[in-house]
Amino acid sequence: MKRLSILTTLICLIQNLPASNCFENTLTQVATIDGLLQGAYDGVMPCSELTQYGDMGIGTFDHLDGEMVVLNGVIYQVRADGSIHIIESELKTPFAAVCAFDVAQLIEVPKGAGMQATQALIDERLFDQNTFCAVKITGTFRRMKTRSVPPQEKPYPVLTEVVKHQTVFEFESIQGTIVGFRCPEFVKGVNVPGYHLHFLSSDLSSGGHVLDFEITEAKVEIDPLERFYLILPTGLANHQNLDFSKDRSADLQQVEQ
Ligand SMILES: [Zn+2]
Repeated sequence: MKRLSILTTLICLIQNLPASNCFENTLTQVATIDGLLQGAYDGVMPCSELTQYGDMGIGTFDHLDGEMVVLNGVIYQVRADGSIHIIESELKTPFAAVCAFDVAQLIEVPKGAGMQATQALIDERLFDQNTFCAVKITGTFRRMKTRSVPPQEKPYPVLTEVVKHQTVFEFESIQGTIVGFRCPEFVKGVNVPGYHLHFLSSDLSSGGHVLDFEITEAKVEIDPLERFYLILPTGLANHQNLDFSKDRSADLQQVEQ
């Protein structure tokens, strides 16, 4: 994990945790999925700050400008035109989840395994279904289907409207890494229950939010996480005016698949 900043050290002090392991085994999340579903696309945390909470993860960017892949501490933006950008600027994220990835378990996945089969094998090996788990799949994929979303203008449409204009990418025999999380059912409304995965190709030429894949040969690593740290954009108008009283599970299913 990277060197801890003054901010991170302060948070550790508040949490009464030693700075050296403050964010170990922790899924740190910025804002909520139900906020994003409602169109809360204004960035609330600079990407430079996000990576202080972890070196691997997923998310999106200010104005919903593409899919975020955080891999080895580097933030990549996969835009709807298919281009990939390394983000070193103060560009903000409206929604992201990261962790300090530490391989805890290797999962054997047979050649030719599809997305559902791979996820079922990870489920089987989890010691506790009701916990968070970081997932990293590195290798060659016979098929990879991803998507990205175009940046939005105010007044922002809801996410179910945006994904009607998403760009879908389909690749064959592509090398790369899938990163993301498996969240327990009880996060409903806060994060995505089940798997939420993003992909980045090894040559950094393609990626996006994973819709489907088939493994040729890959290393599947997981890191169960026992702590969940939620950072709310409290006080911002775009957060204060959100309505969290509705069940948006059907909307989530529509935008995730
Ligand atoms: Zn996504």
